[in-house]
Amino acid sequence: MEIPTRDQIQRAPKVLLHDHLDGGMRPQTVIDLAAEQGYVDLPTTDSADLAKWFTRGADRRNLVLYLETFAHTVGVTQTKDGLSRAAAECAEDLAADGVVYAEIRFAPELHTDQGLSLDEVVESVLEGFRIGTKNAAAAGNTIVVGTLVTAMRTAARSLEIAKLAVRHRDAGVVGFDIAGAEAGFPPTIHLDAFQLIMRENFHITIHAGEAFGLPSIHEALQYCGAERLGHGVRIVDDITYDGDGKPILGQLATYVLDRRIPLEMCPTSNVNTGAAESIETHPIKLLRDLRFRVTMNTDNRLMSDVGMSDEFEKSCNAFNWDLTDMQWLTVNAMKSSFWPFQDRLDLINNVIKPGYAALMAE
Ligand SMILES: [Zn+2]
Repeated sequence: MEIPTRDQIQRAPKVLLHDHLDGGMRPQTVIDLAAEQGYVDLPTTDSADLAKWFTRGADRRNLVLYLETFAHTVGVTQTKDGLSRAAAECAEDLAADGVVYAEIRFAPELHTDQGLSLDEVVESVLEGFRIGTKNAAAAGNTIVVGTLVTAMRTAARSLEIAKLAVRHRDAGVVGFDIAGAEAGFPPTIHLDAFQLIMRENFHITIHAGEAFGLPSIHEALQYCGAERLGHGVRIVDDITYDGDGKPILGQLATYVLDRRIPLEMCPTSNVNTGAAESIETHPIKLLRDLRFRVTMNTDNRLMSDVGMSDEFEKSCNAFNWDLTDMQWLTVNAMKSSFWPFQDRLDLINNVIKPGYAALMAE
């Protein structure tokens, strides 16, 4: 089969497991909210210039520098209305890009500067997703959104945040994550939070193996109960080659492959943070060829100036991927979601597979 056209990629059903609410806002919304709230720290109030500023700031080949750009998106989302507008627009934008299921994450502890409680922050975001899902449906785009609650790995509130996630599990929160600077902040610092989640039979994904290597992945899986790996791209450090160029997997890579541990891969973001050299050399190609449970994700649509269709388009062009590859990655993602099993099956059998079958028949 051929490389799909941009139009086909856009219309293809897509599933997104790794996307940050504060990394995916519309530039104009950042400007509007700043004006409403008297936030004066934005570098510019022109939306095209602001979009460029975010991308330039993020694309400095370093995770810590990349994360600096979030000060403004977080700065303007300290109110109920700001949070719920950001969430509603997120659902609408993803649905318009052909995403049929998304899990969006955010760190409630970053949104309490103006006095919102952690519960109010979560409720505002969940309300936003409900509104956005409804608006998207009215525009003819059906999307299901699950919410992931993130604790900052550089802070000491993870147990409190884990409890917060569990409290809202029946209202749309589907799991717990830790994010932020990785080097010096191993997942085991937050062991009590992960153990609480496990005792509650709830779900865990952990940013691991992005800016830091195999020990981070090992701790996430074997100490902290991670069901999925955020990025996980450094698992390639556990793959060597024999004299004929045949890959040899170490124990950890073998475990990740055999246990079908989902890798939430974000190629463009990895190029921005320096976790990968380029899209063309990104390990997603090797890991897909070795049949790891690879999924395709955007991470931060604003900072990386990328949407799901863009992300797929880049990889399809770089690796000659066709609709079969896209469907494989999409079904992988749907299987790996924290949504209930029957509903996952329903989306795979009644939305994703028929969607690709129709495109392939064109
Ligand atoms: Zn991330």
